[in-house]
Amino acid sequence: MKIEKSLEYYTKGLKHLVGAVNSPVRAFKSVGGIPIFIKKAKGSKIYDVDDNEYIDLVLSYGPMILGHRNKKVENAVKKALKKGTTFGASTKGEIDLAEIVCKAFPGMDKVRFVNSGTEAVLSAIRLARAFTGNNKIIKFAGCYHGHSDALLVAAGSGLATLSIPGSKGVPDEAVKNTLIADFNNIESVKKQITKHKDIAAVIIEPIAGNMGVIQPSSAFIKELRTLTKEHNILLIVDEVMTGFRSKFGGAQELLGIEADITCLGKVVGGGFPVGAYGAKNEIMEMVSPLGDMYQAGTLSGNPIAMACGIATLKELKKKDPYKKFEKTAEEIETILLDAAKIYKVDLQVNRFGSMINPFFTKEKVIDFKTAQTSDTSKFKTFFWKMIENGVFLPPSQFESWFLSTKLNEEDLTKIKKAVEKGMKAVSNSSRK
Ligand SMILES: *Cc1c(COP(=O)(O)O)cnc(C)c1O
Repeated sequence: MKIEKSLEYYTKGLKHLVGAVNSPVRAFKSVGGIPIFIKKAKGSKIYDVDDNEYIDLVLSYGPMILGHRNKKVENAVKKALKKGTTFGASTKGEIDLAEIVCKAFPGMDKVRFVNSGTEAVLSAIRLARAFTGNNKIIKFAGCYHGHSDALLVAAGSGLATLSIPGSKGVPDEAVKNTLIADFNNIESVKKQITKHKDIAAVIIEPIAGNMGVIQPSSAFIKELRTLTKEHNILLIVDEVMTGFRSKFGGAQELLGIEADITCLGKVVGGGFPVGAYGAKNEIMEMVSPLGDMYQAGTLSGNPIAMACGIATLKELKKKDPYKKFEKTAEEIETILLDAAKIYKVDLQVNRFGSMINPFFTKEKVIDFKTAQTSDTSKFKTFFWKMIENGVFLPPSQFESWFLSTKLNEEDLTKIKKAVEKGMKAVSNSSRK
């Protein structure tokens, strides 16, 4: 495989960019080697600067659910671009996207658009604190909610991959109100609630995606909803990854719960930087200018980003790809498990809707601890075989793979061949 140009850019990039990347998850640090530089993408495929073609199962970590360069989306962006890029004043697109989002999420009367998932979550936490008058929050080990200070504790993939527990530069004061519980373990939540009286919110990824894909048990998630209600604690459901991924709306609906505050990002902007948080009127009326919780943004609700989000969601609604996603994910699961069986590799596959990933472990993966039983060196071998055979995966054991509507039968055949080579390599390397 040729990677000369990527190597050249990487070397150049090191001079003025930190590690030649703008987000550490792109750095390939845990899988070794150098990050691949991308030139362009179309449909289900992505192309690097050395002209290698890959089937894209990263999809920019989720937003490109329609595949790359969807015609309708591209035209909507072009049209918006011609009218100007930002005005510092309201535009109709914001109203239109808000309507689509609020219709899709029964728990949202009102929504505020921001520029990233991180921003959506940190604002949602401020809002929960403003609404309840309490300061503490409970998060789950292995869930990632963006890189704001208070949430960089036991925070899943990026950090798990780099094997560091938190982050330097986060003062103890910033995390002293963050309590940790274990995913799929309601007792661990009860323990925190009994011990601490001033809890504003519990925040959760409804389907964990940042320690690999992990589903909550139905009992756990329902009890979590009941428990928080009983104690007047708000439930913040972070659907930055899951929003519009497994149904047109949220995973919370599929799980039979309703959030007090919902956070969105990724798909909602269709590839432009958009985040959002929303809730019932009673809560959202706390937000400035209606209320006294301040939160603002120079580029929030940017007209081009709104146009991209609107076009993406309209296309998604029309295509209604969710049944097909389920079927495709099942096929990929079978491909992975069959290959693992042939080459005698211990493997678990977790999936939900259009999110799926394998864990190289014997243990059933139900929380952060079991996720970490995965053999990351096996993943590393597997990852590079997949790259060599034209399948672009997230460079981490602890990230979900994503499916797009553009993934076709031919792609699946290629994926199957790559997976078989990947498992064979894993099997050979572990016998050494
Ligand atoms: C990606 C992600 C975030 C952070 O979003 P950014 O846009 O990267 O800031 C927050 N929560 C979850 C669940 C995510 O997957």
